[in-house]
Amino acid sequence: MLIVMTPDATDTDIRRVVETIESLGFKAHPMPGANRTAIGLTGNQGAVDPAPFAELPGVAECVRVTKPYKLVGRDLKHDKTIIRVGEAEIGGDDLAMIAGVCAVESREQTFLTAEVVAGMGCKWFRGGAFKPRTSPYAFQGLAEEGLKILSDVRDEFGLRIVTEAVDEPALDLTEKYADVIQIGTRNMQNFSLLRRAGQARKPILLKRGMSSTLEEFLLAAEYIMSEGNYQVILCERGVRTFGSHSRFTPDLSVIPAAQRLSHLPIIFDPSHSTGNRETVIPMARAAVAVGADGLLVDIHPYPERALCDGPQALLFDMFRDLVAQARAIAEIVKQHSEAHNIYSTVK
Ligand code: PEP
Ligand code: MN
Repeated sequence: MLIVMTPDATDTDIRRVVETIESLGFKAHPMPGANRTAIGLTGNQGAVDPAPFAELPGVAECVRVTKPYKLVGRDLKHDKTIIRVGEAEIGGDDLAMIAGVCAVESREQTFLTAEVVAGMGCKWFRGGAFKPRTSPYAFQGLAEEGLKILSDVRDEFGLRIVTEAVDEPALDLTEKYADVIQIGTRNMQNFSLLRRAGQARKPILLKRGMSSTLEEFLLAAEYIMSEGNYQVILCERGVRTFGSHSRFTPDLSVIPAAQRLSHLPIIFDPSHSTGNRETVIPMARAAVAVGADGLLVDIHPYPERALCDGPQALLFDMFRDLVAQARAIAEIVKQHSEAHNIYSTVK
């Protein structure tokens, strides 16, 4: 259920509703919006009786949410969620460029790359210290040593760090160093890891499972939010189909579909979805054109020697070109959506 407060409800009114929800053994999720606060109620198995809330001061209405996800949906929160770390944003006015190395391999490789990312005015840096690899014999990442290099990148260049946690011990460690914790495609339905991410005090970048539907994707985000962490970024990274021309098939149609259903920002990873640097720029352009809130891109100073995913890593000049093109397209999309207010019909 969702309890919508009146625009003039006070903090005391909101607190009273939260306490009433908790006294009944449920969990309360207050979501402040531009005009009013809505309070999500979870933890119930069947329908909840609205009677204990309906007459409380400041309550406008109690609404049953029929969708399987409650906190992720626009019913609870109409305004878009913006993830903010310092000056850096995802889901705000500007396209978020999250670029960097696939895997942190060395201080030199990571710093050379970070210099280029910062030089383009980007605010986010990606790099894996824990790598989920198909083969147990492949490079698995530098673990804490890699996290320390990433932390030094933040100190040196002011970039905010996005890095993956592959399991719960890695999440414990990553939480100490990262600005945003990534959950990879192979872990999208690792429910204990999602719950642990929900207890983290850092935003979570959740990649879509490579064979998951949009509903499964949103329910994975719901796991994180149901634990009280509302800072979630969705990321489309391609799904498995029968094609062999591309590592995965980028499903760009999921971007506007997710934005219609959910207030969470959604970004696109053209690197892992295509697996091929020649296809990264065209697909990134297309994703920005359909309204992606950002891009997650692999680059490398010498991709032929990369320990992980070299064929998809952009060369530095290609990256500079991508940023210029993506920003130009984002500007046009922004003007267009401001003019037409594309969400005006969504309740
Ligand atoms: C990555 O971003 O480094 C990664 C491993 O991506 P995915 O989980 O999408 O394969
Ligand atoms: Mn990779």
